[in-house]
Amino acid sequence: MTLEILSIRFANHGKGKKKIMAVTNTRTKPLLVAVGMGHRNTRKGGAYEEYGWTPGASRALQRRGRARDMIVELIQENDNDSDQNFSNGLDIGPAYAKGVAGIIAKHGRAPDVIITMHYNGGGAAGAHFIHVDGWAAPQRKGDNPKDVSTVREISKALGLTGTVALMKPTWSGGSDIQAGVMSERQTGAVANTPGNRLAEMVYGDKYQSTTTRLIAEAGSIGVAREAAYIRDARWVEFTYCECLLNGVEKVWGIFRKDGSTALAPDPDPTPIAQGFERPVKLPELENFREAPPSFIPRAVQTTEGWAFYIGEDVIITEKTPRYQTFLGTGRVGEDLEPGTPIFAAWGLLDKTSGVPYTYTLWGTRVNLLHTDLGVTT
Ligand SMILES: [Zn+2]
Repeated sequence: MTLEILSIRFANHGKGKKKIMAVTNTRTKPLLVAVGMGHRNTRKGGAYEEYGWTPGASRALQRRGRARDMIVELIQENDNDSDQNFSNGLDIGPAYAKGVAGIIAKHGRAPDVIITMHYNGGGAAGAHFIHVDGWAAPQRKGDNPKDVSTVREISKALGLTGTVALMKPTWSGGSDIQAGVMSERQTGAVANTPGNRLAEMVYGDKYQSTTTRLIAEAGSIGVAREAAYIRDARWVEFTYCECLLNGVEKVWGIFRKDGSTALAPDPDPTPIAQGFERPVKLPELENFREAPPSFIPRAVQTTEGWAFYIGEDVIITEKTPRYQTFLGTGRVGEDLEPGTPIFAAWGLLDKTSGVPYTYTLWGTRVNLLHTDLGVTT
């Protein structure tokens, strides 16, 4: 599935909300952040296509972090040596340990924050951020209080964007349960079984007192709408990674070479280029944005008529606008060029003109006669 790019000209932050948060705990030296390319090790593993996604997402996080004057080092990056697996035959935990050791050797200190990049598979929607929760001091939840507060802030920032869902807690225990925040013990791999740990946590245990370690799950590739965001490099870099960094800076403080002390504004989930309009969403269809394909009905009645689920990639066959409405008003972003793939989520007939449109996951309307879906007049 390919998500159309909403706007090819948007700036780092959109024109909409500009909520600039001040932080009190400004820093005297740059944050040192390590970013792990989850599963980019000999035994790979992970969700569908996750192995191929994490390098790009990690490099995007590095770019955004450097733009904030952080020192950001990658774990398991290709350094053009003879080690094609980036980890000399290691599994994920040892590969992580090797990467962190290299960063410490280079900078003479442990990273402040280690983030490993992942996404989920399966039908359970929602991004979530996993904090350390071992079984004995000093590796338990909260032994380093910044562990939990960092994932809480990240989750909060991402929730405000209204893009991917936050995983709803299905676990119990503790008064601080929050959507998108998950303890190591609550993961499927640990299953709340004493002694079980996640490899990426265990191999960083010796840095517990100085370092917040977290596993970032961007959402589920098995949920259509989340897959669309996950596969949109612009969302990953300018919405998701900015949320990760906003959460980190909220807790760890900021350091800017120019001496400024204001946090970045919250990312705009739908950055709009100048001269274009925001999409107008159909609430009846947005209800299914977190649903796995098998839970999406074939047809839904909306205020603008019946919508039939298409759920397919289509190719644009002639230059065509993206509209705010089925009446062909309000252009949302540049026109789509022939050859562009887009994900056609729903099909609707415009009541007035009879033209078949697709309603995309962005809430734009595109004339299906200008695609290769196979619609004839
Ligand atoms: Zn993973």
